[in-house]
Amino acid sequence: MADSPRMRPHLASRPGRARRAAALLSALAAGALAAAAPLRADEPIVVTSCPGQQRIAVTFRLDCSHVRDPAARAQCRPFIENQACKVFPAYRRITGIDLEKACPEITYTVYDKDQWPHPQGGEGGQAGRCSAELLSQFSVLIDSAVGPYDVHELLHIYQSQIGSLPYSHILFGPSQLEARREIGDRYGYEAGFARLKKEVFDPNLEQQFARMKPELRCPMAEVNEEARLYISDPKAVYAYYRELEIGWQKDQAQREARFNRMFAKVSEGRAKKFLLEHGCAPW
Ligand SMILES: [Zn+2]
Repeated sequence: MADSPRMRPHLASRPGRARRAAALLSALAAGALAAAAPLRADEPIVVTSCPGQQRIAVTFRLDCSHVRDPAARAQCRPFIENQACKVFPAYRRITGIDLEKACPEITYTVYDKDQWPHPQGGEGGQAGRCSAELLSQFSVLIDSAVGPYDVHELLHIYQSQIGSLPYSHILFGPSQLEARREIGDRYGYEAGFARLKKEVFDPNLEQQFARMKPELRCPMAEVNEEARLYISDPKAVYAYYRELEIGWQKDQAQREARFNRMFAKVSEGRAKKFLLEHGCAPW
């Protein structure tokens, strides 16, 4: 999935007294209806424990009510169990971030394509503060040796804790790959690793930089460098999150500089040359 801008929660306009009363009435009516109709036992699916762990730090919830196909629906529970019991702890190990304070609960909502509430043809996923929306084809229908899972939107949720980013998908290449490896999707990991290698060592890399808008060069150099360091030592990705200072800056150059200081530290200076030669200002 390409860029996924954060969803901003918008404040509902304050209803007047009459509207409040009407809202209360309809809420009561809905409550009565809900009490009368047999509640679907499988909506939403809530995961609070994992094999060998009676109580997990963050509760996972999945709303699969927008998925119709029975074959896809059958994958809803395995999907959210994988998120709670495999992907969540994998990112905890990789990033060192304890998410439970910021997000005691994480909610996924999965949609069939024709139910997607966002413009068609855009990205098939969106992360909110402690929530994610995904198309079924990018979530419950993903086929892997460990079953369906998502390493993309959950990483956005984790990264909401590390400060402002120079690029919305910074550290995504190595982090997602390492998560695939951690959860045991060996094929997904190896295929992704080969793809990453191809991108990093693309013989046309210099031409690509030359054609790029100048303001994109430094973030792309960072993405390239983070992948190169990871390829030479997978432990690097764990160090990225531990060495990065957390900070909030409006200024793009300051965001880039903050990440560059981290890359320089993790690489013991080796990253410096490439970053400076590909659009980053000295930091
Ligand atoms: Zn994204």
